[in-house]
Amino acid sequence: MNRQRSSHLFDAARGLMPGGVSSPVRAFGAVGGSPFFVERAEGPYLIDVDDNRYLDYVLSWGPLILGHAHPTVVAALQRAIHRGTSYGAPTELELDLARLIAEAMPSIEMIRFVNSGTEATMSALRLARAFTGRSKILKFAGCYHGHADLLLVQAGSGVATLGLPDSPGVPAATVADTLTAPYNDLDAVDRLFAAAGAEIAAVIVEPVAANMGLVLPVAGFLDGIRRLTTEHGALLVFDEVLTGFRVHPGGAQGRYGVIPDLTTLGKVIGGGLPVGAYGGRGEIMELVAPAGPVYQAGTLSGNPLAMTAGIETLRALREDLVWEGVADACERLAAGIGAAATAAGVPGQATRVGTLLGLYFAEAPVASWEQAKHADTRRFASFHRAMLERGVYLPPSQFETWFLSTAHGDAEIEFTLAAARAAFAAIA
Ligand SMILES: *Cc1c(COP(=O)(O)O)cnc(C)c1O
Repeated sequence: MNRQRSSHLFDAARGLMPGGVSSPVRAFGAVGGSPFFVERAEGPYLIDVDDNRYLDYVLSWGPLILGHAHPTVVAALQRAIHRGTSYGAPTELELDLARLIAEAMPSIEMIRFVNSGTEATMSALRLARAFTGRSKILKFAGCYHGHADLLLVQAGSGVATLGLPDSPGVPAATVADTLTAPYNDLDAVDRLFAAAGAEIAAVIVEPVAANMGLVLPVAGFLDGIRRLTTEHGALLVFDEVLTGFRVHPGGAQGRYGVIPDLTTLGKVIGGGLPVGAYGGRGEIMELVAPAGPVYQAGTLSGNPLAMTAGIETLRALREDLVWEGVADACERLAAGIGAAATAAGVPGQATRVGTLLGLYFAEAPVASWEQAKHADTRRFASFHRAMLERGVYLPPSQFETWFLSTAHGDAEIEFTLAAARAAFAAIA
């Protein structure tokens, strides 16, 4: 594939923007080579500036569950844009999106819209600290909750890809109250609560860990942290920025039947425009300004275009069997990828939940960040390049999840599996 124009643009971009990108993993650091620059997108495809076409399993890192430029979303945005792009005043659109979310996740009695997942988690934890009057936060190694200072500890994903265990610029004092435990290790959580239970404001968790590859919660893990938080008077925060509307139409809380006190959302609820949200029990949310004293605000929060894209996306997903169709395609893809790896004699662990898929180049299933980080990253890099050359764009890091959309039909799954068989054979 010729990527000459992309390569020129990347050279120019590196002089103007750190690493040439607006977010780290986009730079292809973990897989080598340089990123392609996108010209446009349609359905399941990205088209780059050199006119190469890629079947896209990144989907803007999750939001585009209807695929790119979905006609209904685009038409609604076109109508909306003529009515103005931002008002800084309330609209009925916020109510509509809030209702769609609350119907899908009944634990969300009240919600506040923000502009990103990072803002959502940061604000939810401020609220949890205010509600409990405590300062410690417990998070899990390999879980990513955005880039707020207090959460940039053992943070998986892009941080893991870059091999930064932490980030310079985060004062030690800021993370002094952040405790960490291994994901799926309930005993470790138990010990931390035994030692400091009265000081822990909240446990924040990705209920399915999807920023260290894809790691499912083991039986009893989510129930166990629900029980421990309740016993010790701490809040349970589910970070469903990624899992919301992806692992189940009701999020991970709908799938596993474990009900958090607060939930953070992003990605799918914005339908490809910048949206985040946090919500939960009314008595907690009533502390948020202006109803209560916990300050949090945003110039563009509740933006009418962003609300419109979110509303259209969630409405489309509610139609009969739409979500299930994506999950079925994901199931077939995961089974096919696993079989293709085995046939080529390549040790590969494909994991799947809902519309998400993960692939580790590892001998045994992965249940924690400790295990995930031993997966073979060089082999993944070769596989990624081999797939890209065959027109399939996978997330450019083994520690990112693959995303599917309603636009990934039978033909696209078959195309991907044919490419995977060839790619596995090439790297075996
Ligand atoms: C993507 C993500 C975030 C951060 O969201 P941004 O919109 O990138 O700030 C937070 N938590 C999880 C689980 C995510 O996957």
